[in-house]
Amino acid sequence: MARAVVAIVGRPNVGKSTIFNRIIGDRLSIVEDKPGVTRDRIYGVGDWNGRSFSIIDTGGIELNDEQILKSIKLQAELAIEEADVIVLMCDAKAGLTQSDTEVAELLYRSKKPIVLAVNKVDNMSRMDDTYEFYNLGLGDPIGVSGAHGSGVGDLLDAIVENLPEVEEEEYDEDVIRVALIGRPNVGKSSLVNALLGEQRVIVSDVAGTTRDAIDTEFERDGQRYVLIDTAGMRKRGKVYENLEKYSVMRAMRAIERADVVAVVINGEEGIIEQDKHIAGYALEAGKASVFVVNKWDIVQKDDKTMQHFEKSIRDHFLFMTYAPVVFLSALTGQRVQKLLPVVNQAAEQHSRRIPTGLLNDVISDAVAINPPPTDKGRRMRINYATQVAVKPPTIVVFVNAPELMHFSYERYLENKIRAAFDFEGTPIRIFTRRKS
Ligand code: GDP
Ligand code: GDP
Repeated sequence: MARAVVAIVGRPNVGKSTIFNRIIGDRLSIVEDKPGVTRDRIYGVGDWNGRSFSIIDTGGIELNDEQILKSIKLQAELAIEEADVIVLMCDAKAGLTQSDTEVAELLYRSKKPIVLAVNKVDNMSRMDDTYEFYNLGLGDPIGVSGAHGSGVGDLLDAIVENLPEVEEEEYDEDVIRVALIGRPNVGKSSLVNALLGEQRVIVSDVAGTTRDAIDTEFERDGQRYVLIDTAGMRKRGKVYENLEKYSVMRAMRAIERADVVAVVINGEEGIIEQDKHIAGYALEAGKASVFVVNKWDIVQKDDKTMQHFEKSIRDHFLFMTYAPVVFLSALTGQRVQKLLPVVNQAAEQHSRRIPTGLLNDVISDAVAINPPPTDKGRRMRINYATQVAVKPPTIVVFVNAPELMHFSYERYLENKIRAAFDFEGTPIRIFTRRKS
């Protein structure tokens, strides 16, 4: 199910990133603990009262050479275009400013659900300082403190209340939903054309979902596919099209709706930071992934080039060693036919279920070779494990003392599970729960 998108906008220094980090909370560690993921995260997943949503801190979208007010307005416009709910954040210490008012007008006109948060309400006496924000005409200001965490629950309540109703599944279970994601000009549209070839294409305007999403459905060798948000690829020429973090925001929605994310990389340019953001988000969202190295026709090659490129991918994406790599040329069509079988494989692994008995055999062997961690003489004991979900495969390990589980031991178990069951192309999740 695609998650709704929430954007935080506001002047610099009001505390957007502080609150953002509080909202994504320990979720941050899912990816951040793993080497290779950059720390300047501006997007993540929040959970509150059983609703899960994507959240983006637009303050992290850098707009070069723009005056501050112009930047905030551009960020607000991006939010209006891409988000379902917008949080306008202001600062109780600084009070109401002209910029707040101008951005509020922009947001008000958008008719999007707006939540007004006033940060730095560090004590009750500051609550009085939130009243002047009623003047913005955006309803009740919610006083929060990024420093102490107070009011964040109220803010989350307001966000969740404004999230759109949960939408129906858009496609049948047996359709593989593929998102081609990558920076502008890596060759995504060319790849769509190369994949479709002479195929009769059904272009569906998915009503009621992403405002301007156009998906492309096709069938190959008896398997049905839908390429998610092919319209997003065609959308060009906007000021912010080349802004990396904006592209990430656009990509987030497509990723959320996909089963398999094909991360398209320009083989001629190599890997850059933005590719990592995108891939990291696919992992975070629990989607299957494949790397597509495009423009392989113009890469100067010898017999080692492919190997070197693959090694470079492995070095840059240490957190995604499970994702297979396909080298191709959308322009010449070379090896394009290799992509769909790899996508099928990733989709299959993504929805694979391992019987509990088999899983526990593997865990027992792993424990016998390398016993779980101890602390002050106490040893963690694994009682049993079971797969509780697919897409991605999610395994719960029941133990006597979850606090003794280490990231490194979890990683060890994951490696053993992968060695036994492969799971190529999909992330897997492991949770530890108490049960003695
Ligand atoms: P952003 O530019 O809007 O993302 O703001 P930051 O999150 O980077 O915060 C700007 C500054 O305000 C930092 O020095 C924070 O430590 C500080 N700050 C954030 N939240 C609070 C708060 O609730 N109270 C106080 N007193 N300071 C805060
Ligand atoms: P998008 O922005 O990611 O959708 O990229 P496009 O599909 O529009 O491609 C951008 C440019 O790269 C165009 O000029 C394409 O002709 C070119 N291009 C795309 N794929 C290839 C390829 O495999 N090889 C070469 N040499 N050029 C390519």
